[in-house]
Amino acid sequence: MILSQLYDKALNLESLNTDQGEFLYDHAPLEELMFVANELRQKHVPGKNVGWMIDRNVNITNICFSQCRFCNFCRKKSDKDAYVTTQEEYKAKIDELFALGGDQLLLQGGMNPDLGLDFYIDLFKKLKELYPALKLHALGPPEIVFLAEKEKMSFRDVLTKLIDAGLDSLPGAGAEILSDRVRLIVSPAKASSAEWLDVMRTAHFLNLPTSATMMYGHIETRRERIEHLVSIRDLQDMKPEGYYGFVAFIPWPFQDEGTYLRERHGIRSSFSSTDYIRLIAVSRIMLNNIKNIQASILTVGKDTGMLSLHAGANDLGSIMIEENVVSAAGGGNRFSAEELQSIIKEAGFVPVRRNQKYEIYN
Ligand code: SF4
Repeated sequence: MILSQLYDKALNLESLNTDQGEFLYDHAPLEELMFVANELRQKHVPGKNVGWMIDRNVNITNICFSQCRFCNFCRKKSDKDAYVTTQEEYKAKIDELFALGGDQLLLQGGMNPDLGLDFYIDLFKKLKELYPALKLHALGPPEIVFLAEKEKMSFRDVLTKLIDAGLDSLPGAGAEILSDRVRLIVSPAKASSAEWLDVMRTAHFLNLPTSATMMYGHIETRRERIEHLVSIRDLQDMKPEGYYGFVAFIPWPFQDEGTYLRERHGIRSSFSSTDYIRLIAVSRIMLNNIKNIQASILTVGKDTGMLSLHAGANDLGSIMIEENVVSAAGGGNRFSAEELQSIIKEAGFVPVRRNQKYEIYN
């Protein structure tokens, strides 16, 4: 394979296949990868704007049957520190969110066997009644699979009922690596790759905005990372014209501290700054049909986050007022709204505040 031909193909917004993507990832000089990815960023999002947002993560419950082997957050029902968030706690957290100028809630948590579809419908309705301006970015494909199985309903019916109750967008949580070889080792009880993609396909046809993610740097191969990107691109190609589909792609590295994978199997995170920059650039090149590439500054930190903006990323995500799942395994970077904006400026860009659909606030 000849690198310059692959660059030309990418710059024409043509789709690279898995072999071509893997070849670029393994062999392209970093400087050239960054250049091509930057050019593509300019085609998708011209100019210097870099998105950021204010949102708040509230965990619905930490009780989860899935017990993923990279997760320090989940608890069994019998554990002393197991919880289900109460209405009073939601109110206090949402009041604080609005006081800080935000209006978006990222609602995630464990798959608690005691909580069925009615619980979530009731929760969403109550929150929307109390706070009509609130936007709910909630659950994720594994929870939809779990609820569909529990209620013996289709993905479409579960999603439709949640949208009717107030769901505004569906996070791409639980994608990890879309390879069943990998999933059987790191998260065997969770949705399969096909199920994750099926839920997202259904959401896309309902015109529910979604995001795509990747949690990498554990036991997957580089080829499996590329295959993951190709699966996401292929699904995005199927969305109806003019519908939201995946509004962004966000990769983040495995945080290994105290996890079962590290403690029991000695698997450490393979994260390095240069590999993250390469991955951001390759993602921009492979995902020729997704507009926004977001760097996960929460997990990779300020310096790598800034460099990502020169490698195809156009967004640094949220100040994330509260985050418990990633931080429970060592992903501990925190930034205020002012800090995040000054980081974007320091990198040479213009911070623009956006919502969960990646639309800029005027
Ligand atoms: S990552 Fe999510 S699904 Fe997996 S055990 Fe933790 S809370 Fe449960």
